[in-house]
Amino acid sequence: MAVTRTLRYQREADPEWTEWLRRQPGCEAFWECLQCGTCSGACPLSIYMDFTPRRVIALVREGFYRDALSCQTIWLCASCYACAVHCPRGIRITDLMYTLKREAIRRKVHPKGLPTPVLAQEFYRMVQRRGRNSEFWLVLRMALKSDPWALVRLARSGWRLLRAGRLSMRTEQIRQADQLRTMFAAAREGR
Ligand code: SF4
Ligand code: SF4
Repeated sequence: MAVTRTLRYQREADPEWTEWLRRQPGCEAFWECLQCGTCSGACPLSIYMDFTPRRVIALVREGFYRDALSCQTIWLCASCYACAVHCPRGIRITDLMYTLKREAIRRKVHPKGLPTPVLAQEFYRMVQRRGRNSEFWLVLRMALKSDPWALVRLARSGWRLLRAGRLSMRTEQIRQADQLRTMFAAAREGR
């Protein structure tokens, strides 16, 4: 992945957003980052990222949230926790990545055409509605919304999985799903 270099001016920064981010669970310590780059060296996916984890920390710390929220890095993060384990300041970078993902979806600034943000939203909707995930319908909805041609490419494998009973078109629902929806609503409203 080519390194992205864009000149930024202080007037583009939003320190209030940084303050908000510092109050989110798991994000309290990022201000103590040394910019040592250990996280980027430990990250198995940093070579594919447009910003390394260290650069993401630098961006959010200075308030350049638009770059941090619209980058591919947060969606390529595989939540392996290698960065957090090796960070000398104990910064929970993986938790920060999750917070940035949620914020990118809320502001609708995630990279278009990337399947991962669509997958995250569809998974959330499915679990919120039924309390269960259905892989078949999840993949179908993700492909239709991000890359319909993927359905053509995956059709043969999907058919084999269906025939072998490894994939099911059946949808499941937990009992009293309405209570789960109430819990989700309360979490969204911060009750
Ligand atoms: S390893 Fe920790 S201190 Fe070093 S750059 Fe990454 S987040 Fe900052
Ligand atoms: S948790 Fe994400 S950012 Fe951290 S090392 Fe793993 S893939 Fe990289």
